[in-house]
Amino acid sequence: MNALVQSLAAMSGLRDRDALDAALVRLVISSSDGAVHSASLIRVVGEGDDRRCLVQARLDAGQTQISRDLLWTDWTTLPHLSRFALRQQAVEQGRAVHADTPPGACVIPLQTPQGTWGLLEMGFATDLSAHTLELVDGILLTYHNLLGLLDYGEKDALTELLNRKTFDGAFFKATAEQHGDDLPEGGERRQPHPDAGVWLAVLDIDHFKRVNDTYGHLIGDEVLLLLARLMRSCFRFHDQLYRFGGEEFVVLMRCDSVDHAHAALERLRERVQAYAFPQVGTITVSIGFSVLLPHDTPSGAFGRADKAVYHAKEHGRNQVCSYQALVASGDLVDQVAEGMDVDLF
Ligand code: GH3
Ligand code: MG
Ligand code: MG
Repeated sequence: MNALVQSLAAMSGLRDRDALDAALVRLVISSSDGAVHSASLIRVVGEGDDRRCLVQARLDAGQTQISRDLLWTDWTTLPHLSRFALRQQAVEQGRAVHADTPPGACVIPLQTPQGTWGLLEMGFATDLSAHTLELVDGILLTYHNLLGLLDYGEKDALTELLNRKTFDGAFFKATAEQHGDDLPEGGERRQPHPDAGVWLAVLDIDHFKRVNDTYGHLIGDEVLLLLARLMRSCFRFHDQLYRFGGEEFVVLMRCDSVDHAHAALERLRERVQAYAFPQVGTITVSIGFSVLLPHDTPSGAFGRADKAVYHAKEHGRNQVCSYQALVASGDLVDQVAEGMDVDLF
């Protein structure tokens, strides 16, 4: 019990989601007196029949290394939820389910008021005692509370997108995975597409001041909230969406090519333009984007995308501009060639 209290105390000091996930599966195994031989935290991503399973952390008893799917795992390589009968039942019934036949397994849904976002799956050889199940419940409650605290510090209260504070850390994590520096043990590297990369986009609402001036701040805030929803619906589960403040948003996304990156942003621009915002009607957005370069910095990448936004604003708004394309066409002078040291943070 003493070890459990110490582990819970150590877990409560963590400020990193991956570390928290790893601590959860470690704790589930170590607190089960040898009964649980594997514990996995699985995120359920996607919708309807296309829901898939992403392993956020998995530990087998006797091992020390956590395994997990990579941050930028290709969607099509993730297994469908429907391939796992117990997991699917747990999601659909919204309660813990146990395997009827050996080997023993138990899947507990992890829920928020919006629904089930993940699962804790435990494999065991001998039935779990009521005491172990009670401990696991307590551990999960602690984990949920800690996640809630992280959300409170890292998410924008209005839109629930990530806030600017978390951007630098996520940026370096994304670039580390892009270059394979952060491959988890046992993680297989799929041959990356030769043109694959990570892109950073900056989005700014056009003439937003007019919205506030005409309809007031509350309606303006509603537009921001609805725009965040449109953004969520346009990007994939692993793309990271930020509200940088005011009416400025940032997307960090991995794509197989610059054309895919451009198409995803263009789709967002079109959806925003087509959306009927209550009272306000239509609004448009200007978007600039840049590929992340080797040894890039958050401020350098942001600065390039921001220059492309500025160009979009100067040339009629309601458009998506690529920094690299603007440099290639001579419309912009490259930041590096210019010797410019952008430091916005
Ligand atoms: P542009 O097309 O050049 O971007 O014009 P704009 O009016 O959008 O740009 P500008 O930067 O001049 O104004 C941004 C406005 O965004 C100013 C302010 O009224 C509004 N704004 C900033 N933060 C918030 C917020 O949190 N809520 C609301 N409702 N409005 C905000
Ligand atoms: Mg602005
Ligand atoms: Mg604006």
